Order: sequence, then C-alpha cells, then structure tokens
Amino acid sequence: MSEEHALDHRGGNEDQPESENRPVAGPTGASAGQDSPARLLVNVGDLRRRLGQRRSEDIEVRLAHQSVVASRTTHEPVQGVVVVESIERGVSVIGSVHFSWEGDCRRCLEITTDRLQVDIGEIFQVDAPEDSELIDFDGDQIDLVPVVRDAVLLSLPLAPLCGDDCAGPDPDRYPAITVAEIERRRAEEATGPDPRWAALDQLDLDQD
Ligand SMILES: [Zn+2]
Repeated sequence: MSEEHALDHRGGNEDQPESENRPVAGPTGASAGQDSPARLLVNVGDLRRRLGQRRSEDIEVRLAHQSVVASRTTHEPVQGVVVVESIERGVSVIGSVHFSWEGDCRRCLEITTDRLQVDIGEIFQVDAPEDSELIDFDGDQIDLVPVVRDAVLLSLPLAPLCGDDCAGPDPDRYPAITVAEIERRRAEEATGPDPRWAALDQLDLDQD
C-alpha cells in the first residue's frame, strides 16, 4: 500500500545531510512510469570516511519490464536488502533481492508464476578500469538499479516449469512445443508471419 510513497520518497536531487540515507527510486520528481529508467541512488560519501563501515539498505524498485525467451518480470516491485560496506577506493554491495515473474510452462504451456530470490554481490570503485567487473562511480553516490536489473534478468528462467508434477503437454489442447518454437511465435506476433512460411503454404496448394 505504501509502495508508491516509498518509491517517490525524496525524489529530488538535492543532498539533504540531515535526512536518512534511504535509497531513492524513480525518476526525479515524476511518478515512476512502467518503462521509466528508475534509479535507486544510495549516498555513500559518509560511509566512505572510514574503511569497514557498513550500512544496510532496503531495496524496493519497479524495474522497466524485463524478459527472456519464455519468462518475464511482473509489475510488482523488486524488493530486498543489501549491506553496503566501505572498502579501499569504493564500496562493496552484498545482499539479495526477490521478485515475482511469470512465464510459459515448457511442458503444458499454461502461464505459471513464481517468486525468485537472487544474490547480489558487486564492487563499486572510483575510476574502475573499463575492462574490469568493478562498477565505476563518483565516490559519493551509487545507483543500484543496473545491479538489481542484471541480477533479475540473469535469473529469469529460460524454460519455466509450472511444477515438478506438471503432467506435460496435452496434445488435444496444445501441441508439443520447443523454445525455438516459442521464439518463432513471439517473433511472428511482433512482425507478422514469416514470409518463408507463406511460401511453403503456397507450395502445398500448388501441389494439390
Ligand atoms: Zn506445466
């Protein structure tokens, strides 16, 4: 219920030293639209005054829609907790987030939905080399959205299953289907029928 409030909490850019260091999500000032590039900014300047200092940060962010072959995120916010710790030249961010997803069961093709928890472990470093896995930042503020988004995207199931006991395809209702077929259908939905298939249909007609 209070999600909207939490998301729009302190939407401005000004640094308010007396305010608590809550993550700020959502585009500045505006309400977070479905496809807005949300940000989850955490001020770490104070933390970095002493090595080893740490603080936990609650995460709640609505990501723009993420999808892989046969599964996608829902409209619900991604939530979790990370511990931000001051290290040499930067901060480490360790924790986990959980989120809900939905997808097409690879056996029965019914839509299935579930929650997933995924670990997060990243290091932000001032002047991080480009070819490293470290994330470059200015030393004062980190944005957790790319971190959360990557973690979510990488953990979305490629071939979802509605349950271990799924009875599998019901040939009367659904033909057997492969991931490649799902991809083809999605492409077809987006662009219309593949002309090569139309050509095949033509061929069949000619032969009859
Ligand atoms: Zn199933």
